[in-house]
Amino acid sequence: QQYELYKQAQIIEQIHDSIISTDLHGYILTWNQGSQEMLGYTDKEVIGKHMSILHRPQDIEKNKEYATELMTRESFSVESYLVSKSKKHIPVMVSLSLLKDESGNPVGLIGISQDITHRKEIEKELALQRDILSHQAHHDVLTGLKNRLTLERDIENLIAQYKENSAPYAVLMLDIDWFKDVNDTYGHDIGDFVLKELSKVLLLSVREYDKVYRIGGEEFVILFNRINYKDAVNISEKIRLLVGKHIFKVNGKEFFKTISGGLYHSSSMNLSDVKLVLKSIDTALYESKTNGRNRITYLGTYDR
Ligand code: GH3
Ligand code: MG
Ligand code: MG
Repeated sequence: QQYELYKQAQIIEQIHDSIISTDLHGYILTWNQGSQEMLGYTDKEVIGKHMSILHRPQDIEKNKEYATELMTRESFSVESYLVSKSKKHIPVMVSLSLLKDESGNPVGLIGISQDITHRKEIEKELALQRDILSHQAHHDVLTGLKNRLTLERDIENLIAQYKENSAPYAVLMLDIDWFKDVNDTYGHDIGDFVLKELSKVLLLSVREYDKVYRIGGEEFVILFNRINYKDAVNISEKIRLLVGKHIFKVNGKEFFKTISGGLYHSSSMNLSDVKLVLKSIDTALYESKTNGRNRITYLGTYDR
């Protein structure tokens, strides 16, 4: 029997996880080699000390609750942190169970802690990758502006808001006039440069809470939140004129580009479907093109 106990003690000693037992008040009774490797203290340094020297201040209340919970649940696992001798916070998965005497009365607690630093790092990296992917899915790579997917989602929200409390909004779609000429004259890279430059001009010309999107090749959208039709028209005209006056400088040459647009205001047609909204604006935009470009067509009735 003596030998059996010795063997068990050996096994516990050799396990790489930290195995710590305490009395019912939290004072450390045993400390294995794994605990020393993980936390830096030798058994002599910690036996008799209170377990709380290994806990972060913010966890102490929670750990007391775990101890109470053990009395009714006997054993369970939680994620937590242990503080090493060098004050490093080590993320661990702890299995807690009751230590009992021969007659089954609880005399203390046993905590088996596995270092999950590596798992935590992987989880963090995955979360980061998820954020990056989500950002990529919602933005345009060339200009960094929000993309069509985001636009559709945002318009859906505005439509819902409008149904609920008639919060007025406007959608302006813009398309560069004769953009193909830029590519044909200066090359595709310069075309890209113009798109990036225009996105900056648009961002600078809208109010702080308006949103700018690139939804296709040389098509942009601006969402105006909480705006009446008249103000939306005024801002749209201001933007059209501003873009028309912007000097694009390329390899020592300078040129101008104009834009055509279509504007939808929530009060004018009250469409309740994103696709319908975008389709109507597209039609208005097409009208601007056929009527000579460098102009904006306003959908629905608008009192000038
Ligand atoms: P319109 O006045 O009728 O709008 O004429 P446009 O030449 O601007 O219109 P069109 O739609 O015929 O041409 C748009 C061009 O935009 C065609 C395509 O080569 C170019 N384009 C689309 N995406 C990009 C891009 O990401 N970069 C560059 N450089 N060109 C692009
Ligand atoms: Mg165009
Ligand atoms: Mg186009």
